[in-house]
Amino acid sequence: MTAPGTGRLDGQVALVTGGGSGIGRAIVDRYVAEGARVGVLERDSGRAAALARDHGDRVTVEIGDVRAPEAHAASVTRTLDVHGRLDAYVANAGVYDYSTRFEELGENRVVEGFAELFETNVLGYMLGASAALPALRDSGGCLIFTISSSGLYAGGGGALYVASKHAVVGLVRQLAHELAPDVRVNGVAPGATLTALGGLAALGAADRRLDAELDGIDRHIPLGFVSDPADHAGLYVLLADPRDSRFMTGAILPSDGGLEVRGA
Ligand code: NAD
Repeated sequence: MTAPGTGRLDGQVALVTGGGSGIGRAIVDRYVAEGARVGVLERDSGRAAALARDHGDRVTVEIGDVRAPEAHAASVTRTLDVHGRLDAYVANAGVYDYSTRFEELGENRVVEGFAELFETNVLGYMLGASAALPALRDSGGCLIFTISSSGLYAGGGGALYVASKHAVVGLVRQLAHELAPDVRVNGVAPGATLTALGGLAALGAADRRLDAELDGIDRHIPLGFVSDPADHAGLYVLLADPRDSRFMTGAILPSDGGLEVRGA
């Protein structure tokens, strides 16, 4: 824990969706260690209770679903009521398609899978950004989106997931364009990470968790290991800290063990 008054995010307030597990939880833990107070929007009540237990009044949690506009309104309102301002909004909650191949989906499962995955991974980010923007304009704050190496490359997911993460790349770029110079908009693109990332109910995969299925993936990563959630958290500190990233917008920071240099 950073000594009081010496954190990189002292006095700042952030809001993180999906902050109860995995990459989101690592962001919350690191933001608190850097002196921030944090609001969280999370659908899992057990994970929400763990956040409250571990962080006390530095973290407030709203239980809700990122697919619902009213959940975002409630979490932004609660964050502002309790913490007084909002400096960084991190859209992060997501689900995975477990690399289901396009031809295996068939028409019905494309329709249902698209709705569940895009409403979480893309619409959820748009609704969150929309709810947070007035407060971010007031503070001169920033939006940070969790993307994925699947926003940059094929093969790390199926068509639904890869298309959703490419859509978030477009969202970062368009919002950075529209919101400059008032609100900075950037993304982090993690590669394989040991988390409980879940699958789609529409594909019968709601109970799968990614960390149980990453054996052997390290062989495909130049740096030779699968990351932990905390390996990415410092990039979210960088992007939230205006002293270190005030000239950055529309940027996407890969944190993927070197996929760009895998070689031919
Ligand atoms: P995770 O399941 O550990 O964490 C996601 C959190 O979001 C969970 O606490 C879950 O309850 C919550 N959540 C899911 N759907 C929600 C909804 N509809 N409403 C509210 N909360 C919801 O998984 P993670 O790997 O930490 O995923 C976080 C982000 O990181 C996702 O956007 C994912 O696509 C991305 N990502 C993950 C990996 C990886 O390998 N794990 C790699 C690249 C990108």
